[in-house]
Amino acid sequence: MPRPENPALIDTFGRVATDLRVSLTDRCNLRCTYCMPAEGLDWMPGEQVLSDDELVRLVRIAVERLGVTDIRLTGGEPLLRAGLEEIVARITALSPRPKLSMTTNGIGLARRAAGLAEAGLNRINVSLDTIDPETFVKITRRDRLSHVLAGLAAARDAGMAPVKVNAVLMRGVNEAEAVPLLKFCLAEGYHLRFIEQMPLDAQHGWNRGEMITAAEILAKLEASFELTPFPAARGGAPAERWLVDGGPGDVGVIASVTRPFCAACERTRLTADGAVRSCLFSNDETDLRSLARAGARDEEIADAWRATMWGKLAGHEINDAGFAQPIRPMSAIGG
Ligand code: SAM
Ligand code: SF4
Repeated sequence: MPRPENPALIDTFGRVATDLRVSLTDRCNLRCTYCMPAEGLDWMPGEQVLSDDELVRLVRIAVERLGVTDIRLTGGEPLLRAGLEEIVARITALSPRPKLSMTTNGIGLARRAAGLAEAGLNRINVSLDTIDPETFVKITRRDRLSHVLAGLAAARDAGMAPVKVNAVLMRGVNEAEAVPLLKFCLAEGYHLRFIEQMPLDAQHGWNRGEMITAAEILAKLEASFELTPFPAARGGAPAERWLVDGGPGDVGVIASVTRPFCAACERTRLTADGAVRSCLFSNDETDLRSLARAGARDEEIADAWRATMWGKLAGHEINDAGFAQPIRPMSAIGG
Protein backbone atom coordinates (compact mmCIF):
# COMPACT_ATOMS: atom_id res chain seq x y z
CA MET A 1 0.00 0.00 0.00
CA PRO A 2 1.54 3.38 -0.92
CA ARG A 3 2.01 5.72 2.04
CA PRO A 4 -0.16 8.86 1.76
CA GLU A 5 1.47 12.27 2.17
CA ASN A 6 1.27 12.77 5.92
CA PRO A 7 3.96 14.17 8.20
CA ALA A 8 2.88 12.01 11.18
CA LEU A 9 4.04 8.51 12.07
CA ILE A 10 1.07 6.68 10.55
CA ASP A 11 0.92 2.97 9.74
CA THR A 12 -1.15 0.84 7.39
CA PHE A 13 -3.61 -0.03 10.19
CA GLY A 14 -4.53 3.59 10.84
CA ARG A 15 -2.54 3.98 14.05
CA VAL A 16 -0.54 7.16 14.69
CA ALA A 17 2.55 7.01 16.90
CA THR A 18 2.84 10.04 19.18
CA ASP A 19 4.68 8.37 22.07
CA LEU A 20 8.45 7.89 21.75
CA ARG A 21 10.49 5.57 24.00
CA VAL A 22 14.16 6.54 23.96
CA SER A 23 16.78 4.19 25.34
CA LEU A 24 19.70 6.15 26.77
CA THR A 25 21.99 3.18 27.38
CA ASP A 26 21.85 -0.62 27.31
CA ARG A 27 23.93 -0.84 30.52
CA CYS A 28 22.49 -1.65 33.89
CA ASN A 29 23.59 -1.93 37.52
CA LEU A 30 20.99 -4.62 38.34
CA ARG A 31 20.64 -8.08 36.81
CA CYS A 32 16.92 -8.81 37.02
CA THR A 33 16.49 -12.48 36.18
CA TYR A 34 13.62 -11.81 33.74
CA CYS A 35 15.80 -9.31 31.83
CA MET A 36 19.45 -10.36 31.67
CA PRO A 37 21.90 -13.06 32.84
CA ALA A 38 23.95 -12.78 36.04
CA GLU A 39 27.11 -11.86 34.14
CA GLY A 40 25.38 -9.01 32.27
CA LEU A 41 25.63 -8.58 28.51
CA ASP A 42 28.17 -7.37 25.98
CA TRP A 43 27.37 -3.67 26.25
CA MET A 44 27.30 -1.52 23.13
CA PRO A 45 30.71 -0.02 22.35
CA GLY A 46 30.80 3.68 23.22
CA GLU A 47 31.27 4.89 19.65
CA GLN A 48 28.03 3.16 18.64
CA VAL A 49 25.97 4.95 21.26
CA LEU A 50 24.40 8.23 20.15
CA SER A 51 26.15 11.28 21.54
CA ASP A 52 24.00 13.76 23.47
CA ASP A 53 23.84 16.03 20.41
CA GLU A 54 22.85 13.15 18.11
CA LEU A 55 20.22 11.94 20.55
CA VAL A 56 18.68 15.36 21.09
CA ARG A 57 18.68 15.98 17.34
CA LEU A 58 16.71 12.79 16.66
CA VAL A 59 14.26 13.59 19.45
CA ARG A 60 13.88 17.12 18.08
CA ILE A 61 13.06 15.72 14.62
CA ALA A 62 10.42 13.49 16.21
CA VAL A 63 8.86 16.42 18.07
CA GLU A 64 9.12 19.07 15.37
CA ARG A 65 8.36 17.02 12.27
CA LEU A 66 6.68 13.77 13.27
CA GLY A 67 4.07 14.79 15.81
CA VAL A 68 5.60 13.09 18.85
CA THR A 69 4.08 14.60 22.01
CA ASP A 70 5.15 12.17 24.76
CA ILE A 71 8.66 10.94 25.45
CA ARG A 72 9.83 8.32 27.91
CA LEU A 73 13.51 7.85 28.72
CA THR A 74 14.50 4.29 29.48
CA GLY A 75 17.24 1.73 28.95
CA GLY A 76 19.11 -0.28 30.28
CA GLU A 77 19.27 1.98 33.27
CA PRO A 78 18.80 5.63 32.21
CA LEU A 79 20.29 6.99 35.47
CA LEU A 80 23.64 5.55 34.32
CA ARG A 81 23.72 7.90 31.32
CA ALA A 82 26.22 10.68 31.92
CA GLY A 83 24.66 14.09 31.51
CA LEU A 84 21.09 12.86 32.01
CA GLU A 85 19.90 16.10 33.61
CA GLU A 86 21.24 18.08 30.65
CA ILE A 87 19.48 15.74 28.21
CA VAL A 88 16.22 16.20 30.15
CA ALA A 89 16.61 19.98 30.05
CA ARG A 90 17.35 19.97 26.30
CA ILE A 91 14.37 17.76 25.49
CA THR A 92 11.94 19.78 27.58
CA ALA A 93 13.17 22.97 25.91
CA LEU A 94 11.92 21.69 22.54
CA SER A 95 8.90 23.26 20.95
CA PRO A 96 6.15 22.19 21.23
CA ARG A 97 7.29 21.01 24.65
CA PRO A 98 6.85 17.23 24.92
CA LYS A 99 5.69 15.57 28.13
CA LEU A 100 8.71 13.78 29.54
CA SER A 101 8.82 10.70 31.74
CA MET A 102 11.40 8.08 32.67
CA THR A 103 11.43 4.39 33.60
CA THR A 104 14.19 3.54 36.04
CA ASN A 105 15.26 0.99 38.62
CA GLY A 106 15.55 3.91 41.06
CA ILE A 107 19.15 3.34 42.17
CA GLY A 108 20.73 6.74 42.71
CA LEU A 109 17.39 8.48 42.27
CA ALA A 110 17.30 9.59 45.91
CA ARG A 111 19.98 12.22 45.30
CA ARG A 112 18.95 13.11 41.75
CA ALA A 113 15.15 13.29 41.79
CA ALA A 114 15.00 16.98 42.72
CA GLY A 115 17.50 17.92 39.99
CA LEU A 116 15.68 15.85 37.39
CA ALA A 117 12.35 17.44 38.30
CA GLU A 118 13.96 20.86 38.09
CA ALA A 119 15.37 19.99 34.65
CA GLY A 120 11.81 19.24 33.51
CA LEU A 121 11.12 15.56 34.13
CA ASN A 122 7.36 15.32 34.69
CA ARG A 123 6.69 11.72 35.63
CA ILE A 124 8.57 8.63 36.67
CA ASN A 125 8.07 4.85 36.77
CA VAL A 126 10.26 2.96 39.21
CA SER A 127 10.57 -0.80 38.84
CA LEU A 128 10.03 -2.67 42.09
CA ASP A 129 8.98 -6.32 42.13
CA THR A 130 9.00 -6.91 45.88
CA ILE A 131 9.28 -5.09 49.20
CA ASP A 132 11.02 -8.07 50.79
CA PRO A 133 14.82 -7.54 50.89
CA GLU A 134 15.69 -11.21 50.34
CA THR A 135 13.34 -11.60 47.41
CA PHE A 136 14.74 -8.35 45.99
CA VAL A 137 18.23 -9.87 45.98
CA LYS A 138 16.91 -13.07 44.42
CA ILE A 139 15.33 -11.16 41.53
CA THR A 140 17.85 -8.39 40.90
CA ARG A 141 20.99 -10.22 42.14
CA ARG A 142 21.94 -7.04 44.05
CA ASP A 143 21.21 -5.91 47.61
CA ARG A 144 19.71 -2.50 46.83
CA LEU A 145 16.11 -2.47 48.00
CA SER A 146 16.67 0.43 50.39
CA HIS A 147 18.12 2.54 47.53
CA VAL A 148 15.04 1.95 45.39
CA LEU A 149 12.66 2.82 48.23
CA ALA A 150 14.60 6.00 48.95
CA GLY A 151 14.51 6.86 45.23
CA LEU A 152 10.75 6.46 45.10
CA ALA A 153 10.23 8.70 48.13
CA ALA A 154 12.56 11.34 46.66
CA ALA A 155 10.63 11.34 43.37
CA ARG A 156 7.38 11.92 45.25
CA ASP A 157 8.97 14.64 47.37
CA ALA A 158 10.30 16.31 44.22
CA GLY A 159 6.72 16.67 43.00
CA MET A 160 6.81 14.16 40.15
CA ALA A 161 3.24 13.04 39.67
CA PRO A 162 2.15 10.42 39.33
CA VAL A 163 4.95 8.24 40.72
CA LYS A 164 4.31 4.79 39.27
CA VAL A 165 5.72 1.43 40.29
CA ASN A 166 6.23 -1.33 37.69
CA ALA A 167 6.22 -4.90 38.97
CA VAL A 168 6.76 -8.21 37.19
CA LEU A 169 5.54 -11.29 39.07
CA MET A 170 7.29 -14.64 38.66
CA ARG A 171 5.98 -18.01 39.75
CA GLY A 172 7.66 -19.37 42.84
CA VAL A 173 9.70 -16.17 43.27
CA ASN A 174 7.51 -13.17 44.11
CA GLU A 175 3.99 -14.26 43.23
CA ALA A 176 2.98 -13.81 46.87
CA GLU A 177 4.02 -10.15 46.62
CA ALA A 178 0.99 -8.87 44.71
CA VAL A 179 -1.00 -7.88 47.79
CA PRO A 180 1.91 -6.56 49.95
CA LEU A 181 3.14 -4.48 46.99
CA LEU A 182 -0.28 -2.95 46.44
CA LYS A 183 -0.71 -2.20 50.16
CA PHE A 184 2.69 -0.51 50.17
CA CYS A 185 1.94 1.56 47.07
CA LEU A 186 -1.48 2.65 48.32
CA ALA A 187 0.03 3.72 51.64
CA GLU A 188 2.81 5.69 49.93
CA GLY A 189 0.66 7.24 47.19
CA TYR A 190 2.36 5.37 44.32
CA HIS A 191 0.43 3.94 41.39
CA LEU A 192 1.19 0.24 40.95
CA ARG A 193 1.26 -1.44 37.53
CA PHE A 194 1.84 -5.15 37.15
CA ILE A 195 3.48 -6.16 33.85
CA GLU A 196 3.06 -9.66 32.47
CA GLN A 197 6.45 -11.22 31.91
CA MET A 198 7.33 -11.14 28.20
CA PRO A 199 9.74 -13.16 26.05
CA LEU A 200 12.35 -10.41 25.87
CA ASP A 201 15.12 -11.63 28.18
CA ALA A 202 18.58 -12.02 26.72
CA GLN A 203 18.91 -15.61 27.92
CA HIS A 204 15.56 -16.72 26.37
CA GLY A 205 14.29 -18.11 29.68
CA TRP A 206 10.65 -17.05 29.24
CA ASN A 207 8.19 -19.90 29.45
CA ARG A 208 4.49 -19.46 28.73
CA GLY A 209 3.46 -22.08 31.27
CA GLU A 210 5.46 -20.34 34.00
CA MET A 211 4.34 -16.77 33.42
CA ILE A 212 1.77 -15.28 35.77
CA THR A 213 -1.18 -14.05 33.74
CA ALA A 214 -3.26 -10.92 34.25
CA ALA A 215 -6.19 -13.13 35.28
CA GLU A 216 -4.07 -14.69 38.05
CA ILE A 217 -2.82 -11.30 39.23
CA LEU A 218 -6.36 -9.97 39.44
CA ALA A 219 -7.56 -13.06 41.31
CA LYS A 220 -4.78 -12.58 43.88
CA LEU A 221 -5.71 -8.92 44.35
CA GLU A 222 -9.43 -9.56 44.48
CA ALA A 223 -8.91 -11.85 47.46
CA SER A 224 -7.93 -8.76 49.50
CA PHE A 225 -9.36 -5.73 47.69
CA GLU A 226 -12.47 -4.72 45.84
CA LEU A 227 -11.54 -3.76 42.28
CA THR A 228 -13.85 -1.73 40.05
CA PRO A 229 -13.02 -0.72 36.45
CA PHE A 230 -11.38 2.69 36.27
CA PRO A 231 -13.90 5.28 35.03
CA ALA A 232 -11.62 7.14 32.57
CA ALA A 233 -11.11 5.89 29.01
CA ARG A 234 -7.95 3.85 28.49
CA GLY A 235 -6.99 5.34 25.11
CA GLY A 236 -3.64 4.00 23.92
CA ALA A 237 -2.40 3.30 27.48
CA PRO A 238 -0.94 -0.18 27.91
CA ALA A 239 -2.35 -0.59 31.44
CA GLU A 240 -5.91 -1.63 32.17
CA ARG A 241 -6.80 0.06 35.45
CA TRP A 242 -9.03 -0.57 38.43
CA LEU A 243 -10.01 1.56 41.42
CA VAL A 244 -9.05 -0.16 44.66
CA ASP A 245 -11.74 -0.29 47.36
CA GLY A 246 -13.65 2.52 45.68
CA GLY A 247 -10.56 4.75 45.11
CA PRO A 248 -8.83 7.08 44.98
CA GLY A 249 -6.01 4.48 44.91
CA ASP A 250 -5.76 2.44 41.73
CA VAL A 251 -3.91 -0.50 40.25
CA GLY A 252 -3.10 -1.41 36.65
CA VAL A 253 -2.18 -4.52 34.75
CA ILE A 254 -0.20 -4.45 31.52
CA ALA A 255 -1.26 -7.73 29.96
CA SER A 256 0.92 -7.67 26.85
CA VAL A 257 0.77 -11.44 26.45
CA THR A 258 -2.77 -12.49 27.41
CA ARG A 259 -4.67 -9.29 26.50
CA PRO A 260 -2.57 -7.60 23.82
CA PHE A 261 -3.33 -3.95 23.18
CA CYS A 262 -1.44 -3.66 19.87
CA ALA A 263 -4.52 -2.36 18.01
CA ALA A 264 -4.34 0.87 20.02
CA CYS A 265 -0.53 1.17 20.11
CA GLU A 266 0.82 4.74 19.83
CA ARG A 267 4.51 3.92 20.32
CA THR A 268 7.71 4.32 18.35
CA ARG A 269 11.13 3.43 19.77
CA LEU A 270 14.68 4.72 19.46
CA THR A 271 17.54 2.55 20.73
CA ALA A 272 20.67 3.92 22.37
CA ASP A 273 22.61 3.22 19.15
CA GLY A 274 20.13 5.16 17.06
CA ALA A 275 17.89 2.47 15.56
CA VAL A 276 14.21 3.19 15.13
CA ARG A 277 11.81 0.33 15.79
CA SER A 278 8.06 0.23 15.33
CA CYS A 279 7.56 -2.35 18.09
CA LEU A 280 9.41 -4.01 21.00
CA PHE A 281 8.96 -7.25 19.10
CA SER A 282 9.82 -6.15 15.57
CA ASN A 283 12.71 -7.77 13.79
CA ASP A 284 13.17 -4.81 11.46
CA GLU A 285 14.76 -1.58 12.54
CA THR A 286 16.22 1.42 10.74
CA ASP A 287 19.66 2.74 11.53
CA LEU A 288 19.20 6.50 11.87
CA ARG A 289 22.63 6.97 13.45
CA SER A 290 24.41 6.04 10.20
CA LEU A 291 22.11 8.33 8.23
CA ALA A 292 22.79 11.18 10.65
CA ARG A 293 26.55 10.57 10.68
CA ALA A 294 26.54 10.48 6.86
CA GLY A 295 25.17 14.03 6.85
CA ALA A 296 21.46 13.40 6.18
CA ARG A 297 19.18 16.43 6.48
CA ASP A 298 16.43 16.52 9.11
CA GLU A 299 13.72 15.80 6.54
CA GLU A 300 15.60 12.75 5.17
CA ILE A 301 15.83 11.35 8.69
CA ALA A 302 12.16 12.11 9.28
CA ASP A 303 11.25 10.27 6.08
CA ALA A 304 13.25 7.19 7.10
CA TRP A 305 11.47 7.22 10.47
CA ARG A 306 8.05 7.55 8.74
CA ALA A 307 8.86 4.63 6.42
CA THR A 308 9.79 2.41 9.38
CA MET A 309 6.53 3.15 11.15
CA TRP A 310 4.49 2.66 7.97
CA GLY A 311 5.73 -0.96 8.03
CA LYS A 312 4.55 -1.58 11.62
CA LEU A 313 2.88 -4.99 11.91
CA ALA A 314 -0.63 -5.43 13.30
CA GLY A 315 0.60 -7.10 16.48
CA HIS A 316 3.47 -8.75 18.30
CA GLU A 317 2.52 -12.36 17.44
CA ILE A 318 3.70 -13.77 20.81
CA ASN A 319 0.63 -15.98 20.74
CA ASP A 320 1.29 -17.35 17.21
CA ALA A 321 2.92 -20.72 16.64
CA GLY A 322 5.72 -19.19 14.54
CA PHE A 323 6.67 -16.47 17.07
CA ALA A 324 10.40 -15.73 17.16
CA GLN A 325 11.83 -13.61 19.97
CA PRO A 326 13.48 -10.40 18.69
CA ILE A 327 17.27 -10.55 18.43
CA ARG A 328 17.77 -7.55 20.72
CA PRO A 329 16.85 -8.16 24.35
CA MET A 330 14.59 -5.70 26.20
CA SER A 331 17.54 -3.96 27.85
CA ALA A 332 19.05 -3.09 24.45
CA ILE A 333 15.76 -1.92 22.93
CA GLY A 334 14.44 0.15 25.81
CA GLY A 335 11.57 -1.19 27.86
N1 SAM B 1 16.20 -0.33 34.06
C1 SAM B 1 14.97 0.36 34.06
C2 SAM B 1 13.93 -0.35 34.89
O1 SAM B 1 14.15 -1.51 35.24
O2 SAM B 1 12.89 0.26 35.15
C3 SAM B 1 14.42 0.64 32.67
C4 SAM B 1 14.53 -0.45 31.65
S1 SAM B 1 13.60 -1.92 32.00
C5 SAM B 1 13.99 -2.90 30.61
C6 SAM B 1 11.95 -1.33 31.74
C7 SAM B 1 10.84 -2.16 32.32
O3 SAM B 1 10.82 -3.41 31.64
C8 SAM B 1 10.98 -2.49 33.79
O4 SAM B 1 9.81 -2.11 34.48
C9 SAM B 1 11.16 -3.98 33.84
O5 SAM B 1 10.58 -4.55 34.97
C10 SAM B 1 10.48 -4.40 32.57
N2 SAM B 1 10.95 -5.68 32.03
C11 SAM B 1 12.21 -6.10 31.81
N3 SAM B 1 12.23 -7.34 31.29
C12 SAM B 1 10.93 -7.71 31.17
C13 SAM B 1 10.27 -8.88 30.70
N4 SAM B 1 10.97 -9.93 30.25
N5 SAM B 1 8.93 -8.92 30.72
C14 SAM B 1 8.21 -7.86 31.19
N6 SAM B 1 8.77 -6.73 31.64
C15 SAM B 1 10.10 -6.65 31.64
FE1 SF4 C 1 18.29 -3.50 34.61
FE2 SF4 C 1 15.80 -2.69 34.25
FE3 SF4 C 1 16.69 -4.98 33.11
FE4 SF4 C 1 16.37 -4.88 35.75
S1 SF4 C 1 14.75 -4.66 34.19
S2 SF4 C 1 18.17 -5.70 34.64
S3 SF4 C 1 16.90 -2.79 36.21
S4 SF4 C 1 17.35 -2.95 32.62
